[in-house]
Amino acid sequence: MVKAMEPRIIPRTGHNISRKQVSPNALRTLYRLHQNGFIAYLVGGCVRDLLLERTPKDFDIATDATPGQLKRLFRNCRLVGRRFRLAHLHFQDEILEVSTFRADAPSAEADTEETDRHHRRPPRHLKDEDGMVLRDNVFGTPEEDALRRDFTINALSYNIADFSLIDYTNGLGDLEQRLIRPIGDPYVRFTEDPVRMLRAVRFAASHNLVIEPATWEILCELSSNISRAAPARLYEEILKLFLLGSAQPIFHLLDKCGLLDALFPRLSEWLHTSSHHLTLMSINLESLDQLYRNRIPLPPPLCLATLFGPALEEAALARDRDGIPHLQALDEACTSFLGELCQIVTIPARVGGRMRGILAFQPGLRRMPPRRPSSMARRPEFADALTYLRLMAAAKEENRTPLEWWDAFLLDPSSAMSSETAIPGAPEKGRKKRRRRRRHSPKTAT
Ligand code: ATP
Ligand code: MG
Repeated sequence: MVKAMEPRIIPRTGHNISRKQVSPNALRTLYRLHQNGFIAYLVGGCVRDLLLERTPKDFDIATDATPGQLKRLFRNCRLVGRRFRLAHLHFQDEILEVSTFRADAPSAEADTEETDRHHRRPPRHLKDEDGMVLRDNVFGTPEEDALRRDFTINALSYNIADFSLIDYTNGLGDLEQRLIRPIGDPYVRFTEDPVRMLRAVRFAASHNLVIEPATWEILCELSSNISRAAPARLYEEILKLFLLGSAQPIFHLLDKCGLLDALFPRLSEWLHTSSHHLTLMSINLESLDQLYRNRIPLPPPLCLATLFGPALEEAALARDRDGIPHLQALDEACTSFLGELCQIVTIPARVGGRMRGILAFQPGLRRMPPRRPSSMARRPEFADALTYLRLMAAAKEENRTPLEWWDAFLLDPSSAMSSETAIPGAPEKGRKKRRRRRRHSPKTAT
């Protein structure tokens, strides 16, 4: 366990966080807690982001009020979480997370299953034999709450009582040097929770920070441990890695430290068979980030298609050459790829199915002129499939004609309806396809 040190208190005059930057709901909640005699801090990523002059994704609050007290104090409160009870305060356009200060898991000897069994209650902290935390649900002091956090820059608190900052771990110093440093021994902290390695890479790439060199070495050494994290949790983390506008730099850092290979072994193998693959991936992810910056919605299946699509399409092409029809080959490639991937990361069946849909749609979109474009455009996967085509067209500088055709169609469908009927052999609208009788040529006399 990390030892507490005297906190550094930075008064309002010594930092740049202003209440104007805090969401009004969070501010009201902090005041309400304070007026009722509770400690109320803004904590975690929002304090870090405000100090870096970035817009926080969300505002988290920590307090000494228990979940029960929170429930009584706030009518819009719902208690969630099995591992640790948290309060969610529901506002019209925002959900605030309010958590009671909690303590880190003590060393394995101090709180083993054995001792707890002796006391006939479930263990509050539980680690497996390698030190990974399996359960962790104990209230703590504000110091303990700061010290159980992952990185020093994520352990700063903003105190509503006097608008000061509280720093137990020299998070401010690290923030000034733009360093990501775990609280305590990096080896222990990454072993307790391997997901922290992904978080380190995410913050480094998205916030333009550097992982402290000794920590980086340990991260590279432990990267293969990521597969020990719960597959469902890894899926959630992967969405955060690739859907929030920094997919490209994050991907390269994951590749560099070995996390990519541990998470997606097949993709990593494909990536390194040709420098062209690496360039293609880089361009595609940069385009994905551009879509995020342009506020285009990025659904998870599109993210997966961007990551895995080129490798899967290439695998399907190889099967095509063996005479297997393309869609069947693609389907087989997806089944085998997703089957292997799901052993490490849970891809929900619905999301995997949609990803297949996007890829299976591509030949239809590329076919010029397309068959029945209006009915294609009504299909649920159409928008994502077209975005995928757009990404690939930008990267490979091909498929421009289909893209232009579809863009024109979306602007003025009627002009394309005529080309729909112009497809040789395609049934015309409103007319039933008639079966033609085969004409037998008269037998020639021999
Ligand atoms: P962002 O929300 O911008 O992705 P964040 O740092 O706020 O970044 P959250 O997942 O919202 O990330 O977590 C809130 C805070 O909880 C973190 O800042 C950190 O202090 C703590 N935290 C989150 N995950 C862990 C973890 N795996 N181990 C220890 N502390 C964690
Ligand atoms: Mg957050």
